[in-house]
Amino acid sequence: MMIREFVEKRKAELKREVSQLGKPIVLSIVQVGHNPASDTYIRGKMRDSKELGIESRLISLSDTDSEGALLAAIEKENDDHEVTGLIVQLPLPAHMSVEKVNATISPRKDVDGFVPNSRFVPCTPLGIIRYLESEQFEFNGKNAVVLGRSDIVGKPMARELLKKNMNVTVLHSRTRDEDRRFYLAHADLVVVAIGKMAYLDESYELKPTAIIIDVGINRDEDGKLHGDAKPNLRVRFQSPVPGGVGLLTRLALMENVLEGAKWNS
Ligand code: NAD
Repeated sequence: MMIREFVEKRKAELKREVSQLGKPIVLSIVQVGHNPASDTYIRGKMRDSKELGIESRLISLSDTDSEGALLAAIEKENDDHEVTGLIVQLPLPAHMSVEKVNATISPRKDVDGFVPNSRFVPCTPLGIIRYLESEQFEFNGKNAVVLGRSDIVGKPMARELLKKNMNVTVLHSRTRDEDRRFYLAHADLVVVAIGKMAYLDESYELKPTAIIIDVGINRDEDGKLHGDAKPNLRVRFQSPVPGGVGLLTRLALMENVLEGAKWNS
């Protein structure tokens, strides 16, 4: 099933699960200042919530507010029993520490999965795993290459694939090109999350049976979106950009919000 179709089908199921839960689900989103990308992401999260019957609340702080004011706002949401999921939209202004924010958000409400000891899997890896499961992808004993080692994508992706019994290799900016080529040539699954437009191209030898999951979101001068992989590589399946991992990530947030509501009552 194509990603868009999978997402629509799962959203319909989630909507049913939300209504069957029989209690309110509340997602709080804390935003500091404004930037166009964050505004768009937040609008998307609020729209997805509404579609599924989930209440969302936006708590807006100014970028001139202190770090203390942000931490106090987070504490207030942690303590509010009505709130079942809590997100602090990144990036934050330079005078606010992401580490301190993450140390303050309750791990029971951290539906982004960013907090130490969070009960949740971060949304991008979770969305990818759920999609591959729906496609009956055979994880067991197969080779996965994850390009990128960020805390929000690469590292948690590798951890989740290991849980699925894959042989996982994580490559990064210090990997030598000849080694990158070696590992990629043996990969059954490639997850590319590096933020470089069309980096993975036909110069790399790939298995014709391989699956490429393209996490990259790169905007060209015309504002058009492109992935980290060049389109139409000779593999079994390659996720499109746009209309691929972005949709899976949004869906996974809703999965986590519903899970959170089941735990936090
Ligand atoms: P990041 O900038 O934090 O990390 C990039 C990683 O890529 C680093 O670990 C670096 O070592 C690695 N890297 C750089 N060059 C490399 C190379 N040549 N080979 C292998 N590794 C290399 O990025 P991030 O936050 O993980 O995001 C990566 C991309 O995914 C970005 O384009 C971002 O916009 C996108 N993204 C998309 C979604 C989504 O929902 N679709 C979610 C998160 C991030």
